[in-house]
Amino acid sequence: MNTYGKKIVIIGGVAGGASCATRARRLSENARIIMFERGPYVSFANCGLPYYVGDVITDENNLIVAEPELFRNRFNIDVRLNSDVISIDRANKCLEVKETHTGKTYLESYDALVLAPGSKPIRPPLPGIDLPGIFTLRTIPESRSIRDWIDKTNARKAVIVGGGFIGLEMAENLVKRGLTVRIVEMASHVMPAIDSEMAIPVGKYLEEQGLTISLGDGVAGFEKDTDGYSIKVYTTSGAEYLSDLVILSIGVRPEIQLAEDAGLQIGSLGGIRADSRLQTSDKNIWAVGDAVEVKDFITGNWTLLPLAGPANRQGRIAAGVILGRDYEFRGVQNTVACKVFERTIAATGLTEKSILRYNKNGRSINYEKIYLEPGQHVSYYPDASPISIKLIFENNTGKVLGAQAVGREGVEKRIDVLAMAIQMGATVFDLEEAELCYAPQFGAAKDPVNLAGMIAANALRGDAPVVHWDQIDNKSSFLLDVRDTDEFSSNAVEGAVNIPLNSLRSNLDKLPDDKEIFAYCAVGQRSYYASRLLRERGYNARGLSGGFNILNASKKSGQS
Ligand code: FAD
Repeated sequence: MNTYGKKIVIIGGVAGGASCATRARRLSENARIIMFERGPYVSFANCGLPYYVGDVITDENNLIVAEPELFRNRFNIDVRLNSDVISIDRANKCLEVKETHTGKTYLESYDALVLAPGSKPIRPPLPGIDLPGIFTLRTIPESRSIRDWIDKTNARKAVIVGGGFIGLEMAENLVKRGLTVRIVEMASHVMPAIDSEMAIPVGKYLEEQGLTISLGDGVAGFEKDTDGYSIKVYTTSGAEYLSDLVILSIGVRPEIQLAEDAGLQIGSLGGIRADSRLQTSDKNIWAVGDAVEVKDFITGNWTLLPLAGPANRQGRIAAGVILGRDYEFRGVQNTVACKVFERTIAATGLTEKSILRYNKNGRSINYEKIYLEPGQHVSYYPDASPISIKLIFENNTGKVLGAQAVGREGVEKRIDVLAMAIQMGATVFDLEEAELCYAPQFGAAKDPVNLAGMIAANALRGDAPVVHWDQIDNKSSFLLDVRDTDEFSSNAVEGAVNIPLNSLRSNLDKLPDDKEIFAYCAVGQRSYYASRLLRERGYNARGLSGGFNILNASKKSGQS
């Protein structure tokens, strides 16, 4: 392919667009590269915006990753700010551009066009949605407006609509600014992207930090209060909250107007369809980032994943393909992380709820799951803290399908390892054997990732098969609590018999030999020892994965 002197035009100058532009230059000194950006900045850190609102990042300039001059001087990229591309003439390979500050329009031709227009926050057409004081967060000017509003109105109370990653990050940052925060979330728990038993404890933790959370409720409308600043927030359940500030964080929609008007193929999920070479239905047009629908790496289904990592990688790959390289995008697998106060929540791959959804729609993903709660590092080294981990894997092959983790430290490190394992098609048997860093400050000689692999492999090999709370049938089984007597007397499962692990060998006569024995403890470690002991002695025993903690984690408390 002759790419000499190719004119590459990019629409959108942030994550996907900027990454595409600079990679294109690194691959070709003779390409002509133009990057149009509707807003006043290119290459800014959207992900840092909540922290600018919260004054963690105090200087707005720190949000700018690269100035237009750097693109010009270092990369010879023609950056055009405040330039809205308003139409694409595919037949003539030409764009119409409007300068937002002058209103002037002009045409620009292209050889290869890259669409990187991102997404826009969802703003449902509810009564009062356009009142002052109701914000979305996507750009630097929007974050500045939120800061100014807080200062101008001396805001004390905020309602955040949506308890996903951005909603939670905003909640923490508004608390840091001294506001009282309520989250209104339509789902039955915050962090709807992860499974409920992993997310419910996060909600409980957030309440301990002073947040109020209203679950299973949505906003129905807004009204200005008589003071002229405050906003009455009405919800579908009939509740009414008075707030000085509202943040809408209920998700984003791909920005597809241009592509749609140009007749490019739009997928069923509402994103621009892009193949593994990021090519759209027009062979001269590529699309990357939040705006595109790409394949889920694990299921092969079309999906949307509005995250910075995929946008950057896609931008880079599109540049390579345009300049004749044989690149392909592998697909996305939903690797995410979020920190709220002192909790990190991270996940990769399939969740159990996504598998159940797929299975309802004709797939049959045969999976098993295990839970564990190891320390982020050895317990003898100061500041050890637990990480709650859920690992999901294919039942027959042991192939890792997904993982979620919540804890204070070391969470994202384990999820990153597991994300790579998923990309490489690894199994739980590979996790058992993974050689990972260890020194007392960082982990343990059996890292949490190894332990997850060992527990899962034990289950698959039949050495220590697991059972889950929703699979227990009290009539045909014997529920054995192997915790210490003081733990049992403070809280136990109805009908359970307590024989502490250390006295199990001398109390075998108390166990039935005609029933399956389900052993549980606090997190699953002692019940594992118990099930091994009992199985060796001829009993049909299984351990309850995740133990009493997972049973408790599934119960909501206090969230109004
Ligand atoms: P964008 O980065 O949004 O860039 C698109 C650009 O295109 C915009 O600047 C827009 O003005 C411009 N544009 C659109 N249409 C036109 C047009 N017609 N003409 C000219 N210009 C146009 N992701 C993570 O992975 N981790 C995080 O922690 C994280 N935190 C986030 C926090 C916040 C508050 C937000 C808003 C996002 C966060 N994200 C995070 C998501 C991440 O920022 C996006 O996935 C990523 O920026 C998408 O890149 P993109 O290039 O597709 O779109």
